[in-house]
Amino acid sequence: MVPKVYVTYNQVHKLCQEAAPRILADFAPNLIIAIGGGGYVPARILRSFLKQPGSPNIPIQAIGLSLYESLGTTDETQIEEPGTKVTRTQWLDLRSLEMANLIGKNVLIVDEVDDTRTTLEYAVKELEKDVAEAAEQAGRSGEVVRFSVFVLHNKDKEKKGSLPKSMMEERRYLAARTTGDVWINYPWEATDIDEHDKMSEQQAKE
Ligand code: 5GP
Repeated sequence: MVPKVYVTYNQVHKLCQEAAPRILADFAPNLIIAIGGGGYVPARILRSFLKQPGSPNIPIQAIGLSLYESLGTTDETQIEEPGTKVTRTQWLDLRSLEMANLIGKNVLIVDEVDDTRTTLEYAVKELEKDVAEAAEQAGRSGEVVRFSVFVLHNKDKEKKGSLPKSMMEERRYLAARTTGDVWINYPWEATDIDEHDKMSEQQAKE
């Protein structure tokens, strides 16, 4: 059975806090794109730690991508299995004026976990494609958006998807923690948060 790891809101908060200085040093973002639903909470927390005095808050946009299909429930939690394809449930209109303004700037993509990397590969590839089209339409062909990725957890396992080599080389990929091939229970999925926190506390003692 895949081991389950319970992560609390407090731990998520601290992982974001810890990562923020590295994100600012390596790829200070002009926009955050949260991959829903797991990327929403980390993206929002991260924004507070990325805020620079005298500068406005970094805007957050959301995209919805779905890869996993539910296989039903076990005693305490839902176990999900990888699906075969990524489905867009929400996307950005990169032809809009605001989006065109991002050409030449830095965009941070946030998700909670990098498992098989299929979702991140899809997000980066598709966003890069849309940006290239938007740049062409704006008469700025060849100009790019510098995408970077932040995840709370990266599972150290064989990946099905891949990210651009330049992203890895230029340290535009950051995982707050690297884990084994475990199943992580995030607090926003919990139906009983006290029980969730208790499980996490118990694990910490083991
Ligand atoms: P990937 O495309 O990297 O295989 O999977 C990404 C998505 O799968 C995540 O955004 C998340 O929704 C789901 N996922 C993969 N592993 C886990 C896990 O350990 N815990 C939870 N809660 N979701 C996971």
